Amino acid sequence: MDVGTTGRRFVRRSPGGDGRVAVVGAGPAGATAALELARRGVQVDLYEASDAVGGLARTIELWGQRVDLGPHRFFSSDRRINSLWLSIVGTDYAMVDRLTRIHYRGKLFQYPLQPGQALRHLGPLEAARCVADYARERLRPTEQDGSFERWVVGRFGRRLYEIFFRTYSEKLWGIPCTELDADFAAQRIKGLSLAGAIVNALKSGRNNTHKTLVDRFAYPHGGTGRVYERMVDELRDRGGRARMATPVRRVLLDDGRVSGIETETGEVASYDHVVSTMPITLLLKGLPDVPAEVTDAAAHLRFRNTLIVFLEVDRSDLFPDQWMYLHSADMQMGRLTNFRNWVPDLYRDRRTTILACEYWAYDEDDLWRSDDAALIELATRELTRTGLLRGAAVERGHVERLRRCYPVYSRGYRDRLTVVESHLESIHGLWPIGRYGAFKYNNQDHSILMGMLVAENIAGDAGNDLWSVNTDYETYQEKALITEAGLS
Ligand SMILES: Cc1cc2nc3c(=O)[nH]c(=O)nc-3n(C[C@H](O)[C@H](O)[C@H](O)COP(=O)(O)OP(=O)(O)OC[C@H]3O[C@@H](n4cnc5c(N)ncnc54)[C@H](O)[C@@H]3O)c2cc1C
Repeated sequence: MDVGTTGRRFVRRSPGGDGRVAVVGAGPAGATAALELARRGVQVDLYEASDAVGGLARTIELWGQRVDLGPHRFFSSDRRINSLWLSIVGTDYAMVDRLTRIHYRGKLFQYPLQPGQALRHLGPLEAARCVADYARERLRPTEQDGSFERWVVGRFGRRLYEIFFRTYSEKLWGIPCTELDADFAAQRIKGLSLAGAIVNALKSGRNNTHKTLVDRFAYPHGGTGRVYERMVDELRDRGGRARMATPVRRVLLDDGRVSGIETETGEVASYDHVVSTMPITLLLKGLPDVPAEVTDAAAHLRFRNTLIVFLEVDRSDLFPDQWMYLHSADMQMGRLTNFRNWVPDLYRDRRTTILACEYWAYDEDDLWRSDDAALIELATRELTRTGLLRGAAVERGHVERLRRCYPVYSRGYRDRLTVVESHLESIHGLWPIGRYGAFKYNNQDHSILMGMLVAENIAGDAGNDLWSVNTDYETYQEKALITEAGLS
């Protein structure tokens, strides 16, 4: 991924004052920023609203196991990010051969795709329709209007879009794909894969799966959250403070500069810099003198919530995937994680499996307001219908509610975000980063990178343009991958 000096802005602010820094939020972005600053000898206080480290990438204790909040695959090809990750994890990780499939109308489609299998599953009639639509697109391309729908249709044809993109995307985002920004497609499905491989297979008749889709990843012993727990441990070892269960209510300003923070309990502390990973909309609400046009723009930035229903099932060999995408429109569940298949050795003697069933909703949706028992019942019912339980019984359930989980890239969001960014950028010493902190659909690696770069800016006046992380889609960084043997 690119971090720009080529972007529209080039941020440069001098540290000033005595250089005291507060970091708000102990997720991947905040934990990385705090640690990287501490490693540079900067005095840091980390404030975390919850009682756990790791944010959305935390690992929870459940029924005697450690499980993540849905599937958390760490992957980056950026040498800097991987080096940092290894400096924390050491050798306490396992390499996982990814197996993920799409469940669609009772059939499983390999992902990355094995074209022969996909074609057999689609059947000759459906496959012919896909080819015909794809050919039509090549002859008369759909006019682009910046929407996700047109972007995908233009690339793969309408039928493939309907089968492999539409239902899942509409479940996830809760808005029609005509209202979803093409940015989401450009960011997440560029170079894919499933549709492309079908098309390739149809073109050549050979099993020519795209080689970049061969997928292995490193997974930390103890779960994804272990990385961030260790970061905070090291922060403390280096003299930094990490204050858990201490939500920050607002960032305080004095004459256009950061002067400190105020916690929810009214405690005030002075700082020269605040790195904020709290939701960008809430950060803005707490600031004084925000112009109306900025408030208006922010009012249109929405987040989608996630409900994770964990089920413990009395069988150990349900299916081999680490996670599965559920595309059929007749079920609300969108993704299913099977924790047994991440590092199977960990569970050798257990006779049960923990599954995580993902649902997405807005605050006002009935689904979001459903109580735990109703959600566990829904997940059990839907899962039974898929046949994936293979007759196994659900022994118990647990629900986690993740609010403001996905920044919604609705059409036009980028213009609105730019208005908000410009205002925040005018405030000296304020550094919004992270997934909801910067309203970027970040993976861990993006948030880690933001944390690293903000530390360079504060401690070294590096002038990295933080807003460009995860928006410029090409990568110019030196590449290296994590393997069993470390970095290669
Ligand atoms: C279901 C699911 C699956 C995912 N799968 C993957 C995957 O496979 N690979 C991958 O790399 N990434 C994945 N991600 C994304 C990954 O979890 C995020 O990119 C990452 O956690 C973002 O880190 P962050 O620090 O930017 O934000 P967050 O993780 O959201 O952390 C923000 C932190 O700030 C705290 N906070 C908020 N407000 C305040 C306040 N006012 N005061 C103090 N603290 C506050 C929060 O409690 C939280 O701890 C997934 C996410 C989800 C939900």
